[in-house]
Amino acid sequence: MTERSPSPPANRIIPVADWRQSGARVAETLPLIPAQGQLRDRLHRPLRDLRISVTDRCNFRCSYCMPKEVFDKNYPYLPHASLLSFEEITRVAAQFLAHGVRKIRLTGGEPLLRKNLEHLIEMLAALRTPDGLPPDLTLTTNGSLLARKAPALRQAGLQRVTVSLDGLDDAVFRRMNDVDFPVADVLAGIEAARDAGLGAHGGLKVNMVVKRGTNEHEILPMARYFRGRGVTLRFIEYMDVGATNGWCMDEVLPSAQVIDLLKTEFPLVPLEAAAPGETAQRWGYANPAGEWDPALGEVGVISSVTQAFCHDCNRARLSTEGQVYLCLFASQGHDLRGLLRSGASDAELASAIGHIWQGRSDRYSELRASLPAEATAPANVSRRVEMSYIGG
Ligand code: SAM
Repeated sequence: MTERSPSPPANRIIPVADWRQSGARVAETLPLIPAQGQLRDRLHRPLRDLRISVTDRCNFRCSYCMPKEVFDKNYPYLPHASLLSFEEITRVAAQFLAHGVRKIRLTGGEPLLRKNLEHLIEMLAALRTPDGLPPDLTLTTNGSLLARKAPALRQAGLQRVTVSLDGLDDAVFRRMNDVDFPVADVLAGIEAARDAGLGAHGGLKVNMVVKRGTNEHEILPMARYFRGRGVTLRFIEYMDVGATNGWCMDEVLPSAQVIDLLKTEFPLVPLEAAAPGETAQRWGYANPAGEWDPALGEVGVISSVTQAFCHDCNRARLSTEGQVYLCLFASQGHDLRGLLRSGASDAELASAIGHIWQGRSDRYSELRASLPAEATAPANVSRRVEMSYIGG
């Protein structure tokens, strides 16, 4: 396998356009939609999953997400007053739950950089679905602060955690995070999460973004390391999200090839999806009889580029400053902060969410394959929102 430059060449890094003023106002004159847990969008997809970005800042500079040529000291991060407060986030989340959301994932930026995040977790964990159930509460982190914070997060009510880790080789990992962060500290964070009880019922996951030419030689070492350790490892195809990372198809390693590679060393059997709308295709490590051995665990692939899963996407994203995005590849959100801060009632908030979801028809990843190359070229997508802003 060839070693290519770990970062896109500087001339492929695209300066970010400021898309953040463009949140559509939610019309105030529309009929009220009560929250009855029955929402469907225009493609009949229900609303089940809410991802909440709690900060647009991160302490890593992964070139595929926040390349340091763009996200440098002059980058205009959101001022504190723009961020939704914990009370505002909780109010919005309560209305999403009333509309049918079951799962809440905190993300960012790096969510563990948000001060007192455990207070927000406590507030969200106290919410209930219309059936009286607590939300399935999880968090995605780069793991850098996890060793220190895992016990407090668990105690606050966090149930599960997903850690992003792009390789086991220290030099490769340091290059990919581009801030020289050692892999040992992330591995210690994963152990701390397990010790704190965040790994119960398969709750501990590790996500590895695979970039062809950069870290595909880490696929097998990662699988060897996490197999049988109670950690579900998932390989994510490098996506054309945002407009700054200089994405090109050559650097995408199709998930099918990842599975073929894994099968050269481990017998695998396909597993059913754990929940409707699940992003990962699951594979179980098999025993010599060819049956899934739960003690060995499972791996997964998230094939966002080569096998789009828009048809059952049930996710909404709430940005750090309170805009609802209906697709990772959207260029415009729907502003809820304006409503929150102008005294809207819970019923009005719920209704706004209802109208936003009912109007949704996004399915970018499915359309991508049929789009002409120039439609996805960096020059034409400079208004597409960054992942660090709406959350991964
Ligand atoms: N800082 C947290 C973390 O590292 O997990 C949460 C935010 S991060 C944006 C969420 C996930 O998105 C990470 O697993 C990251 O690797 C993934 N991600 C970011 N840019 C990506 C891209 N272009 N393609 C695929 N995955 C990407």
